[in-house]
Amino acid sequence: MSEYSTLYETDPVYQMAVKQLKEAASILGLPDEYVEVLRHPEKLVQVRVTIRRDNGKIATFIGWRSQHNSALGPYKGGIRYSPNATAGETVALSMWMTWKNSLAGIPYGGGKGSVRVDPKALSQREIEELSRRYFASIAREVGPDIDIPAPDVYTNPQTMAWYFDEYSRIVGYPAWGVVTAKPPELGGLYVRTVSTGYGVALVAREAAKRVLGGLEGRTVAVHGFGNVGLYAAKYLAEWGARVVAVSDSKGYIYDPKGLNIEEVSKVKEKTGSVINYKVGDVKASANHMELLELPVDILVPAAIENVITAENAPRVKAKIISEGANGPTTPEADKLLHEKQVVVIPDILANAGGVVMSWIEWSHNRMGCFLTDEEAITRLDKMMSQNFNRVFDEWQKKYSNYPMRIAAYAIAVDRVVKAMKLRGWI
Ligand code: GLU
Repeated sequence: MSEYSTLYETDPVYQMAVKQLKEAASILGLPDEYVEVLRHPEKLVQVRVTIRRDNGKIATFIGWRSQHNSALGPYKGGIRYSPNATAGETVALSMWMTWKNSLAGIPYGGGKGSVRVDPKALSQREIEELSRRYFASIAREVGPDIDIPAPDVYTNPQTMAWYFDEYSRIVGYPAWGVVTAKPPELGGLYVRTVSTGYGVALVAREAAKRVLGGLEGRTVAVHGFGNVGLYAAKYLAEWGARVVAVSDSKGYIYDPKGLNIEEVSKVKEKTGSVINYKVGDVKASANHMELLELPVDILVPAAIENVITAENAPRVKAKIISEGANGPTTPEADKLLHEKQVVVIPDILANAGGVVMSWIEWSHNRMGCFLTDEEAITRLDKMMSQNFNRVFDEWQKKYSNYPMRIAAYAIAVDRVVKAMKLRGWI
């Protein structure tokens, strides 16, 4: 361990991110001194966020903004509110944003922010005060040309509206480009909400063309029915696949004949869980982990991290896995699946739809014009299809002995290193 920082180096999530970086670096033949540069954020800011609770008492929280790398452009990445947030997790997530943005071919570096707070324990007014105080604390670090935050876990377009307002007050003009995924009334795009799920479906569609002869009639299971899982299921069904199983934290439902996603989504909204969808021969089970082993062509893990492990990977039957969640497959499982010739489309490629749509929003904000939703989605589709196919081809050509993730990392890290060299940083 180096003497640099005890703030994040002992964190297991950070250590996993460094392990992935080292693997990519060794394949690319990069010297250790480059790894030493890349494993640290360029800047890590810690802030104290103090608010007045509804009961009159003062409450203090700790937050961070990690600016990992800006070789390719301003830092870009979400801000999350979570009781488990740590400096190490924030740094790791900012590093993953560097690779995600590099791989997506958008002119951004990587950043991520967090506040260690249980948002469920706060009222809406308290969350607003927390959001404004946090953003005011990092106002000197962000800006349309410096660092552009967006939503992540437990933040949303309303949070972005508060950030936008707080920052605009500080600088004295409406700074549209300081955050993305804003509400449509404040320069955002309606389609930003569907864009991550759309991208997850899109890369599965492209992979199906490559390895299954197309998507038509292929069976799909979707693990997690939040924003990402719901829209991934919706678009895959719209494009001709048969979504046979979906799950949430209460369990999963399965109908080999196919589910009506619109109807399932209504039931989830009304009753709180997909397992209350009882139509025809639909089977329900409380163990959502079983969904991962169903006999389907395509699996979309869109819930939480580390669900596909060395233990259950041998029983996974899907031929394609499109990672909607961040880190749903452990490195050991990744290797086992590769040996079974399963195509695992890695998170940094599969779930980039959100940040690509953020770039579309930001660039149009800065030009002072607005796109229609249809134009924005067409643009997203074109960019992500091209990216998927480029990574797939490069994988087959140069890195076919490794899981696709390694190829994606190698391409992403290589672009960042080249930009750093050109700028004379290394
Ligand atoms: N939080 C999302 C991500 O992890 C979106 C980031 C963005 O749009 O800047 O990719």
